[in-house]
Amino acid sequence: MKTSTSPYAAMLALACLAIPCHADSGPACYDRLTQPHLAIVDSHLHFRPFGGSPILHQDLTRMLKNAGVLYANVFGIGQTLPYDSACTYYLNCPGTPVMPNLKNDIINAQNVTELPVQVPKLTMSMSFADLAKPATVKPGMSVLDQEFPGLFKWMGELNLVKQALFANGHRPVTLEEIRGWGPFMAALRERNMPIGLHGDLGDNDQPTKYLNLITEVVNLYPDNKVVWLHMGLSKELTDIDPDKHIKLLSNLLDKHPNMMIDLSWRVIADSYFFKPAIRAKYIPFINKYSKRILPGTDFVASDDKTFDSYLEELTVTSYIYQFVDDEAFRNIALGQNYFDMLRLQDKAPVVCGSRQVKQL
Ligand SMILES: [Zn+2]
Repeated sequence: MKTSTSPYAAMLALACLAIPCHADSGPACYDRLTQPHLAIVDSHLHFRPFGGSPILHQDLTRMLKNAGVLYANVFGIGQTLPYDSACTYYLNCPGTPVMPNLKNDIINAQNVTELPVQVPKLTMSMSFADLAKPATVKPGMSVLDQEFPGLFKWMGELNLVKQALFANGHRPVTLEEIRGWGPFMAALRERNMPIGLHGDLGDNDQPTKYLNLITEVVNLYPDNKVVWLHMGLSKELTDIDPDKHIKLLSNLLDKHPNMMIDLSWRVIADSYFFKPAIRAKYIPFINKYSKRILPGTDFVASDDKTFDSYLEELTVTSYIYQFVDDEAFRNIALGQNYFDMLRLQDKAPVVCGSRQVKQL
C-alpha cells in the first residue's frame, strides 16, 4: 500500500494493522479488544462516479475485501453528468445538468453478474429513479427486472432534496410529487426493498427547512423501509444543535417503526463525531436506537481514488463505533441490522471482548 499523507494517517495505520482480523472467516465471537472497530458492512457505496471513469469493478471489490468489508450495497449514482462533459464532480461545473439514469444500474448489474466474487457479498441497488417523475419509476424497475430478474434488492441513493445540486438543475421534490409515489412504493413493499433517500434537513441558517419532505414520505408510506441517509446532515448543515437534531430523529424513529437512518458520509464525522462534546450527545442516541441504524462510507468510485482513499473513508465513518456499546456495535458495525433488513440468514458474531472507549 502506498504511504498515506492524509491527516488520518495514524488512524489508518491502526486500522491497517487490525484488518486481517476481519478477513478471518467467521470468528465464534468478535473481540473488540483485539479486532478493529471498522464496519464490516458498507450499505452506502457508489460503484459509479458522477462523471468520468470509475474504478474498475474488480479493483473495487478487491479494495473492499482488503479493507475487511464483507457485505456491500452496489449503488449507482443519483446524479450523473452528461457523457460528453469533462467534469468528474458536479460542484466544479455549476450549470451542467445532472440527472439520474438507468445506465449506471445496468453497468453495475452487468459487472456484478459477469465478475462474481465470494467476498464481499454484494446487494444490487436501483439508483436510476427520479423522485420528481414518479410515473417513470415503475417502468424503469420493469426494464431492470427484465434484464436482471430478481437481482436488485434495494433502491437508492435517491435525491429527495440535495442542496449541493441546486446549481446543476436539481430542485427539492415537491409534496405533490411525493404523493404520486404510491405505485412504486407499493412495488418496493411487495419485494421487501428498502429505499434510501438523500433528504437534506436544511442549512445552517434554517436547519429544519426541509424536514417536511422526509416527514411527508414516512407519514404517507409508513410500511416502506425508508432509510434517511446521513441523518439529514450535509455540508450545508454543519452546526445544527445536537439536542435539537437528536430530538427530531428520536421523534421520527419512535413514530415510524420501519424508518432507518444511516451514518454514512464523512461530513458527519468531520462536523460532529470528531468533536468530543457533540459526540457525547450522539452516543446515547446511537445506543438507544441501535436497531435502526446502518453503516456506510458514501465512497464514490471515481478512478482517481485508491485503496487508501477507500480505507480513509471507512476509517472516518467507522470512527464513532469505538464509542458505542456492544449491542450497538453488533447491530450496526457487525451488520445485524443489515442482515435483518434484507432477511438474510447471516448472523453477526456476538461480542466477547468489550472495548467501548469511554467518552471524553
Ligand atoms: Zn451517497
